[in-house]
Amino acid sequence: MFGGFPFAGMGGGFGMGGEMPTRGGSGSKKVNNSRYYELLGVSKDASLDEIKKAHRKLALKMHPDKGGDPEKFKEINEAYEVLKDPKKRDIYDQHGEDAIKEGMGSGGGGGMTDLFAEMFGMGGGRGRQRERKSEDVVHKLQVSLEDLYKGGSKKLSMSRQLPCDACNGSGSKTGKRYECQACQGTGVQVTLRPIGPGMMQQIQSRCSACAGSGYNTPAGDQCATCKGKCLVADKKTFDVHIDAGMKHGAKIVLRGEAGCSEPGLSPGDIILVVVQKDHDVFQRAGVDLVMEKTISLAEALTGCTFTFKHLDGRVLRVTIPQGEVIKPNSFKRLHDEGMPFQGRPYQKGNLYVRFNVEFPESLTEAQAQAIRAALPIPAAAANGTGAMDVDDVEDVHTISNVADIEAELKSRVNIAKGAGESYESDDDDDMPRGQRVQCAQQ
Ligand SMILES: [Zn+2]
Ligand SMILES: [Zn+2]
Repeated sequence: MFGGFPFAGMGGGFGMGGEMPTRGGSGSKKVNNSRYYELLGVSKDASLDEIKKAHRKLALKMHPDKGGDPEKFKEINEAYEVLKDPKKRDIYDQHGEDAIKEGMGSGGGGGMTDLFAEMFGMGGGRGRQRERKSEDVVHKLQVSLEDLYKGGSKKLSMSRQLPCDACNGSGSKTGKRYECQACQGTGVQVTLRPIGPGMMQQIQSRCSACAGSGYNTPAGDQCATCKGKCLVADKKTFDVHIDAGMKHGAKIVLRGEAGCSEPGLSPGDIILVVVQKDHDVFQRAGVDLVMEKTISLAEALTGCTFTFKHLDGRVLRVTIPQGEVIKPNSFKRLHDEGMPFQGRPYQKGNLYVRFNVEFPESLTEAQAQAIRAALPIPAAAANGTGAMDVDDVEDVHTISNVADIEAELKSRVNIAKGAGESYESDDDDDMPRGQRVQCAQQ
């Protein structure tokens, strides 16, 4: 919703001067302007010093690293961001939380834009960004575990816009730049929309006259190559280097290769985010690898040899010697057969093998006899009573099969409900009070 044009309500505070309503101030209209104070545990007339102290104390206590609730921590910081700034605090006091969140306010000035940028992760005001650099392009780069193990390169084709060579990016035959009159070259049109009694919302949208370019070259002087658009479409194939040992989520930056999002801007960067593809055999755990190996019960009891192909194509052979017993879900370690360390590719993590032991579905009588002969059963266990006296047996049970224990237990969760006292969740009490008020108003 806030990803780009057109976006509403992002304009920040604006000075309406005498036209601003006197209604809407505290008192005449019910606004929620106390929650931030409550979150920080300070009174409404608290000094900046008191607010800072309260926040520092709470931030230390409620930090998620110290076991605090991350949501609560975020709310505390949000409250502090507003209350520490006299302008924002003023807007909050007069118009409440909604005003802060929706970009309403009387005479907030440029400071508000930063607040919204922070809140919505916009990364800086649009207006300022226009003068400098094009937007960066973030792209996910799917990389196989093999490539992350060995390192190498990947081809990647990207479309972009570059300044037109024919007109040197001016858009005109004469090389003259024609600023769009409708938006004064900003590419943005600002309109005001009433959203309540005396309340206006500022809406920014892409300038329709110049399609957001900020230039409007008259037809007679338009460059034939770019048709006055200043930019031309381009496609480039990149050889992206993958470092051995690179992690999932790592960023590879191709500086200045994203082209120009609008005329007159320097090119943006291509930011590639490494996304590790799932692998059929290996799972990655940091610098280590984990694989599963299914062996039969006979192999688990008497030893076995198996081979597997590693990520670089080597075939490795593993032997479990006779006499060693592999228990179900136990692990074995292969030293230095994990992932390489990034930047130190000759240093590697470990490879852990988790063993699945496949039990036979049933045994013939001969097999059962042979196993009892080979692995004798202690006398006390043989008649099913363990250390107890046979006379103690009160009831004889047969047992039935369970196909899927997880599903079965899940289906039984509600079985005893209503039998005893019902358990009341008090989660609702944790809901921020402001939210409740909002709900009630809508
Ligand atoms: Zn324009
Ligand atoms: Zn051109």
